[in-house]
Amino acid sequence: MQSLAQSDPNRVQLPCEREHIRAQHKLYCDAGRNYVRLSHVSVIEDWGRDYFAQTGTPLVYLDGSGKENRRLWPHRSHGSGDQLDIALPFITTDETPLVLAPTPLGYGSYEPPVLTEQPSCEGSSRPADFGDPPGDREWRLDSNRMKVLLSIILDSPSTSRIFLEPHLTARLGFKGHPKIGFAGCFAARHDDHIHIVLE
Ligand SMILES: [Zn+2]
Repeated sequence: MQSLAQSDPNRVQLPCEREHIRAQHKLYCDAGRNYVRLSHVSVIEDWGRDYFAQTGTPLVYLDGSGKENRRLWPHRSHGSGDQLDIALPFITTDETPLVLAPTPLGYGSYEPPVLTEQPSCEGSSRPADFGDPPGDREWRLDSNRMKVLLSIILDSPSTSRIFLEPHLTARLGFKGHPKIGFAGCFAARHDDHIHIVLE
């Protein structure tokens, strides 16, 4: 039986590797997982240019949507061309900023709550959770670049909503921001990437 999913002429692939924007891994381009609605491309590239100008590093994206208008596995809400996951920026323990996230595909390099922060979903099992990284890992969230990244994305009129874990929203000083939501304990963790919905 032929698939009912149709190729959508109004969606295109984001640039795979430029100075100001790139995929975390070539697979996102080769597998066609970096499609977004055509009208979002210039917006996302502008975020990248602004971010690069302020930090000297590119905006690094993970999954967007596929070529066809259907849900992109394993996500619950990617597929319409309006969603994009952005990798968090990391820094080594000796203060060297990393261009890419420290896991190959970007997912799973979590920045878990520190002892003084309240875990959001203690005791619950969340989908696709690889577990907290070891305490002696050589990388941490780069809070300075993360604040720049969040400010650019949240100030953009094209950003409808983002998902981020509450401990990071609070730690970075964005608690109560009307565009930041929590995906909930039955959704994937959002302390390794930012889920963005564009309008
Ligand atoms: Zn997402």
